[in-house]
This record gives sequence, C-alpha cells and structure tokens, in this order.
Amino acid sequence: MSEIPKAYEPGKIEKKWYDFWLRQGYSTPRIDPDREPFVIVMPLPNVTGDLHLGHALFVTLQDIMTRWHRMRGEPTLWLPGTDHAGIATQVVVERQLAKQGKTKEGIGREEFTKLILKWADKNRDDIRRQHQLLGASCDWAREKFTLDEGPSRAVRTAFVRLYNKGLIYRGERMINWCPRCRTALSDLEVEHKDIVGHLYYIRYPLTESEGFVTVATTRPETFLGDTAVAVNPEDERYKNFIGKSVTLPIIDKEIPIIADEAVDSSFGTGALKITPAHDPTDFEVAQRHDLPLVNIMNPDATMNENAGPYHGLERFACRDKVLVDLKDRTLLEKIEPYSHSVGHCGRCQTMIEPKVSLQWFVQTQPLAKAAIEAVKDGRVTIIPERFARIYFDWMENIRDWCISRQLWWGHRIPVWYCQDCAKVTASIDEPTACTHCDSKQLVQDPDVLDTWFSSALWTHSVLGWPENTDDLRYFYPGSVMETGYDILFFWVARMIMMGLENMGKVPFHTVYLHGLIRDKSGEKMSRSKLQANAMSLAEPISNYGVDALRFALTTGTSPGNDINLGKSKLESSRNFVNKLWNATRFILRSLDAERLEAQAIELQPQRIEDQWIDGQLNKLVKNVTGLMEEFQFGEAEQQIYDFIWSKFCDWYIEIAKIRLRPHPALSMAGEGFGEVSPLPFLANTLEKSLRLLHPFMPFVTEELWQSLKQRLPDKGQMPASIMIAPYPFADDKGFAPEAERVMDSVIEIIRSIRNVRAQYKVKPGKWIEAQVYTGELLSGLITQANIIETLAKVQPLKILGRQERELTKDKALVLVLKEAEVVLPLAGMVDRLAEEQRLVKESEEIKGRIAQLESRLRDNAFLSKAPSQVIEREKQKLAMLEDKLKRLHQELSQLSSSSADM
Ligand SMILES: [Zn+2]
Ligand SMILES: [Zn+2]
Repeated sequence: MSEIPKAYEPGKIEKKWYDFWLRQGYSTPRIDPDREPFVIVMPLPNVTGDLHLGHALFVTLQDIMTRWHRMRGEPTLWLPGTDHAGIATQVVVERQLAKQGKTKEGIGREEFTKLILKWADKNRDDIRRQHQLLGASCDWAREKFTLDEGPSRAVRTAFVRLYNKGLIYRGERMINWCPRCRTALSDLEVEHKDIVGHLYYIRYPLTESEGFVTVATTRPETFLGDTAVAVNPEDERYKNFIGKSVTLPIIDKEIPIIADEAVDSSFGTGALKITPAHDPTDFEVAQRHDLPLVNIMNPDATMNENAGPYHGLERFACRDKVLVDLKDRTLLEKIEPYSHSVGHCGRCQTMIEPKVSLQWFVQTQPLAKAAIEAVKDGRVTIIPERFARIYFDWMENIRDWCISRQLWWGHRIPVWYCQDCAKVTASIDEPTACTHCDSKQLVQDPDVLDTWFSSALWTHSVLGWPENTDDLRYFYPGSVMETGYDILFFWVARMIMMGLENMGKVPFHTVYLHGLIRDKSGEKMSRSKLQANAMSLAEPISNYGVDALRFALTTGTSPGNDINLGKSKLESSRNFVNKLWNATRFILRSLDAERLEAQAIELQPQRIEDQWIDGQLNKLVKNVTGLMEEFQFGEAEQQIYDFIWSKFCDWYIEIAKIRLRPHPALSMAGEGFGEVSPLPFLANTLEKSLRLLHPFMPFVTEELWQSLKQRLPDKGQMPASIMIAPYPFADDKGFAPEAERVMDSVIEIIRSIRNVRAQYKVKPGKWIEAQVYTGELLSGLITQANIIETLAKVQPLKILGRQERELTKDKALVLVLKEAEVVLPLAGMVDRLAEEQRLVKESEEIKGRIAQLESRLRDNAFLSKAPSQVIEREKQKLAMLEDKLKRLHQELSQLSSSSADM
C-alpha cells in the first residue's frame, strides 16, 4: 500500500477529488417521494467577474449545509445559477466600449446585447470554475441563468399575471434617476453619502405687495420647477401670507403660498419651496394640494425648455449661473455651509437626481402583507432573529417598487403599445395584434425589468415554474435561503412575496443570514473597493489550500455577525490541516505495520484511555449534531477542531504511541499495557473524525479517508466516497464519565509536571522523581501510571492514597490539583521562600474565585433565572475550590513546619 506523502499539498488533490465527485454525479439528487428533500437555491452571483472572499464565505456555508444533509441520507439539491445583473453588467461593458472610443448607441441595441451576452458567457464559465475550486457540491446539471428561456418565461408570466390583477401599473412617480446611466433606480440601488454642501437662501418677491418670502434650498437651480411655497399652518411668522402668492424671479412665474402640516418650521426659514417633479417630499405635498408638476431636466440632467433662459445648460453649470443672476438682483440673501446626505448611483457613483418619471411599478403592499404574515406565523424563520424585526419594519413601510429600467440588458418588459388606439397589451408571448382594437401596429416597451424582478422568482423559476414539473413539485419549497444580511430586502423579502404570490407557499422555511467579511481593520470587503481590500480567491487558495480557507472563513463565527479575516487565521487553519495530515500518516503507518482484524473494530474498550476517547468522540458527535441543527456551524467546527487537535492528537495518539512501541518503557508502578492494541480505537476515531469534518474540509478529508479505507478490514462494505458516507451519529454507549474523570486528572498531572519542568528549566531528557497522592481515583490513576511516567518523564513514580502520605523533610514542590497532589522532590532546585510565595499566591487566587462563586450563589436574580443544572454545577465548582483551598493550606503549614526544622 502506498504511503501518503510527507507534506500536504492541496493543489495536488483538490482537482482530482472534485472531478471524481463530478463524474460520480453525487451532487445530482434523485427524487424520492418517501423522503423529504433538503434544498438550497444558490444566491445569484453577478456575471460581472471574479469572485472574492465574500462569495467564498457563502459558498462554504451552503456547501457545509449541503454536504451535511447529503451525508444524512436526504435527497439534497443545491441549485446553482447566475444573475444577468442588469445595470451592473451594462455599466462594465459600456466602459469597455468607451475605451475603444465607441458608444452603445453607436453600435445599436442588438449588437450591444450580443456583446454583453458573449462577455457574460465567458464570465459564467469563470464563476463556475471558481465555485468548483471551492469544492461547491452543487448540482451543475440543473444550473440556470436568469436570461435562460425557462426563467425568462417565468418573468413574463409573473409580470402579465400581476398586471392582469392590477398589481402592476404604469404611472408618473418620483424615482431616483441616474443621469449617467440614464435609468431609474430603486431606493435600494442608491448609496447615500454625507457631503458638505451649502444652504442657499433665496428671496421670492411677494406678488401683490412689497417684501419677500425667503426659502432655503441645497439645490437652487430647482427653483425653476417650483409650483408653490409651503409653510406650517401653526407658524405665526407666515400666518398672514397663506393664500397669497409670490413671483419666481427671472422666469416671472406666479406661484401660491400654501399651508401644509408636513412643513418643518425649524428648517431654514420655515418657508419651503415646493418642486414636485424633483423632490420626493415635495411630490407628496403636491399630491395633497393638487399642484402641477414641472419637469425642468432632460434625462442626462441638462436643463430642458421649462428652464427658460437656462435651457441646455448642464445641471451644475445652471446652478452657478442661477446663483450669479440671483445675486445681481439682490435676491440671494445668504449662503451657509450645510452637511447633508445625498444619494449616489450605486453603480457609477453619479449624484442622483430625484425626479418624477413615467415608469412601471409593482403595488407591493398586498404582497408584503402576506409576506409579513408568513414570518409572523413561523412559516419562515429568520436567523439570527434580530433581523426579523428589521424585516417587519421595512415590510410595513414598503413603497411601490419601480421595476422599469431604461437599459438594454435584461428582460424586456412584456408590454406592447398600440399605435392606433394607444392602449396597452401585456402578453407572455409576442402578440400578433392589439387585444383592444386588433390593430397590428404594436411597439414593445423599450425598457427592461429591474434585475431583482427575475431574482424574486428564482426559487420557483429555476424548478420550471410556470410549468408544473416534477422538480417543482418535489423541490419546492426549499429548505434554507442562505445569504448576506445586506440583501435581506433586495432579495429575500421579494422572494417571499413572489413565492407566496405565484406558488401559494413560502419559498423556503429558514432564512440564514451570514455576516459580511471585513479585513483586519474592520472595513467591509466589497467589489467597488476591490483593489483596496477585497482579497481575491486565488491568493489564499494557492497559499493555504481551499480547506484551510473554508475553515478560516467559517470557524468560530455565528450567523449575522461580521467576520474579520486576517493572515493569522488562515495560518492557524493550515496548521490544523497539517496536524490532521501528520496524525493520519502515523496511524496509517501503524496500520501497515500491524494488520487490523475485522473483529477488532467491534472491540469494547477495556483500557481507560480507550473508553475515554470513545466517550469523548461520542459526546462530540452529539454536540456537533445539535449545533448543526441550530445552524451554529462555526461552533460545531470549533468543537471538532478542539477534539482533533487536543484530545485526539495531543493526548490519545501520544498515549497510543507508547503502547505501540515494541518494548514499552518499564513501568515502576501499575500494570503494563498487556496485549490490548490501541489500533482499533485510533482507526475508528480517525475515520469518524474525518466524516465529522468532511462538510467543512471536503478535500483533505476525502484524501485521508480513502487512504485509511484501503487499510480497514471492512473496506468492501464502505461507500466509494466520504461524501456519501453517513454522517456519524451519537450512539447510546454513553460518554464514559468515570474514564473522563480519570483522564482529566491524568492530563492535569502531566501538564502541571511539564509546567514545573519548564519553569525550573529541567533538561528535557532528565527523569525526575514524583509522587502522586489521591483519593477516589487511586485505582484508576494506577492503571495510567505508565502514561504519566512517559509523558511527564517521571521515574520513579509512586501513586498512593492520601492516607499514605508521609511528611517529608526533603525540599519538595507540591502541586495541588483538582483531584490529586503531586509531590516533586526537586532537591537543590527549589527555593523554599519562592515556593511558599507561590502557594500563598495560588491560595489567594482560589479565595477570590470562591468569593465570586459565593456571591453568585447568594444572588436571588441568578438563582431564580438560572436552570437548576447550572446552579448545581456552580455549587460543585464551589465545593471543589473549597477542597483545593483546604489542601493548599495544609501544604503551606507543612512547608513552614519543615522550614522551622532547618
Ligand atoms: Zn449611474
Ligand atoms: Zn389598439
């Protein structure tokens, strides 16, 4: 049998195993009507390019869930797909064109769309490759793209249905307009930035008398579109002006002064200019007072004919000129510095122009109502729970969703305008005639739908909706939606709304929100800052391997909390992989030296350390299962890590090494190891640990598991891959509490002797004498004497009952432990005064901890709230500490009496 290489080289095995899994088709589930499937629909990565660590995090989390459920024997579907990402993609390709001195208008809609499609195809291949690199066990046979025929048909179907129900309408509403992208944006696509601007105080002359009303504004050029001045009806300063009018300067237009309770009297002068076509609040005021809308801008944010003398000027040039002209007329009262939040296009960072525009909207309130209910009554659970409150808050105040985008890339709106009767025909397939007048003169709406419209349908469109397919019947609703908390509203809320609307059932039962990845200094890693801090995937993968990267990203984390990822976390994950590798090499070599008999696997542990490792493993399996069920993957991983690193590698394997030596060290006390081999327990613990770890570290566990399997007597009955092997389950053999008590004590004894050796700089090769005194654990500790001797390098070692302790006049160091005292006669090495000080210091520490515990156990608030087993544990801890203190005091008095003899 070939030995595994000395060092782990991830690059050599990752591709090999991924290709193997792919060939075997393990990720493609079979529909089994008798079993409940586990389903995750992958959040759509944009087709805009390289994945970064944020993607690696979600891929890892979803892969952990998927692999775990698959190993539990459930038909498991993780369905991958990519999003055409409307505006994001179009902006990138437009920039590429610009570099060649071309524009999209220059090459035309058809050519431009073809160009993006080609570019998106290539990117999709890259994205798929990067997912495979990360070990994602998703079902590539079912992969979907939002612009595929199936999902596209779903988009048109959903649109037409909502339109026929009156839930989609076209109307003039306030939207966010990006003058550079020349499209409407939803509120969620706008980034708000605090900027230091100015507040301009402009005088509007009263029409019928002398004097002015002064208004304050951050955008003076918009005065050209004003249709009223509003004041608060309670504002004493303006009571007499209500109902009168002012004349807009320069363009000489008369507008009324109105009263509206929404006006904040403390802002500026208390008189508010109302520009309904260019400000969301003003738009609402205008609706209440039936004021006209005057749009003063072209789509590219130059001024239109309504701007009179400023027609044709760019918006900021217009602002400069307006200010000069107002100043000339002494109508500019003053200018103050003013910090405020201004919306910017999330894609190109151009300053947003709020404006009224004719767009398509979804009336979301009725949809939101059902979606709120679904979370309230528990059909959908949000993890962590705190996000449910944010969800309710947002859904209860939801505004109509602007779904039309003035782009070329995306799902074209399935609406045709009749050139004869001017009515609208909405249709899933291209209509041949107007449904109202049968005219053939139809023109399709040039706009496309918001990319989130197709994403909202993703949970069912990928399974074939609106067709009633086998997949749709079996895999809908999904189990878990795993995504970043930053797109809870963009996506999760809308999926719930559309899932309920189209399918009548929630799209998934659990929403698991992960945190965002931050760099060491806590900055969010994002695509827009890619050069600055977003680590690409290639570097950590080639330096540390995929398993170490996955482990570093997810271990010790909890849902919804942000993750700081630095080099040290990656390094320690790699160290863990290496530790596992080396431990396995040792076990494999031992298995090559001594064949394992089939019946040995069934052996009941006789020796205490074997019972202990068996019990600890069983306990770990039970804990991990519970944690996985509660979505505490980070904690589950941490516990597996602690078990493998410490209990298994540092202790059990070290003990096993002693037992496997051809000539065991001579034991001065206790019994020998006899004929019982630790090999079955080494093999069994390793095999189960690898399976436990597989969902987190798929590659190294498969590699090691395959090598181990070759050496196991029952290999014929074992599955072909660890990926489809059953996840370990806790058996009812229990946790061997007695063995645990003994081994805890053995470990404590060895550790404290090692500490003393280090503290007193005892040479590593030097044997020192030791005596251990104990109570109830006497017989147990005696069986472990050989282990203590070898691992603590003590000889001769005596293990005796406390009653046999003799007062020694020799200088000795006494270690007071939980269940034993260790006496180390280190003649000539220990300073008695220092030793006394050490014991005093230790008893002071114990006293402090006792006082803390006592006050806790007196605290009624604690006693009334804490579960009884917690209180019981605290009481036991207290008793243990009191016992230790008593023994420390005995040692101290012994020390002073013996020093008196000197
Ligand atoms: Zn833009
Ligand atoms: Zn018509």
